[in-house]
Amino acid sequence: MIKKCPAHGAFRGSECNCGEAGILLLDDEQTERLGRFISGALRHFPDDLGLAMNQHGWVDLDVLCDAMRTRYKWSSKEKLISIIDSDEKGRYEIQGRKIRARYGHSVNVDLDYPENTLPALYYGASREEVDILLEKGIRPIKQRYVHLSTTAEKALEVASIHTDDPILILIKAEEAQNDGLSIISATENIALSDEIPGQYLQLVQDQKG
Ligand SMILES: [Zn+2]
Repeated sequence: MIKKCPAHGAFRGSECNCGEAGILLLDDEQTERLGRFISGALRHFPDDLGLAMNQHGWVDLDVLCDAMRTRYKWSSKEKLISIIDSDEKGRYEIQGRKIRARYGHSVNVDLDYPENTLPALYYGASREEVDILLEKGIRPIKQRYVHLSTTAEKALEVASIHTDDPILILIKAEEAQNDGLSIISATENIALSDEIPGQYLQLVQDQKG
């Protein structure tokens, strides 16, 4: 659920960090529905909703709101913004009258984030796929970019959604970028890349020997 603190704005959970109980903006089901709508609109099917997404992934916030309110009469611009503002992962960003997803696109965008500055990045793979990845490299599957994590911990966390037994791969990011591969920094935790050849990948450790 998302509530609003008069002093600190939108927050998730029963009370704001300041102890204020706040005013209810969206219950759990509404949060999930709008969250799914925003994700679909900004990552997967902007055209179906008549959103003229530009090459950097931006769409007009008011046009998105209109499309949302056609489907969900109970929604509002304030509620949409409360989802964005309270999102712990920083999935979306608003700049002036525009909004975009920071990552997770299946549509063909060209995100203009700064180049990654970390020497190494991480990717969590399943035991079944790890050998083929190390040999053939990592390709974006049904996604515009390969999604990499800035820490080993985050990579394992992401991979554990898909596999019980994730294996950690280190990406020699600095070396790959020096060789001309583009890797950009989308959020504190996530970097985005085009296909990464196997030569830049290294098995960190096989946790089970
Ligand atoms: Zn507060």
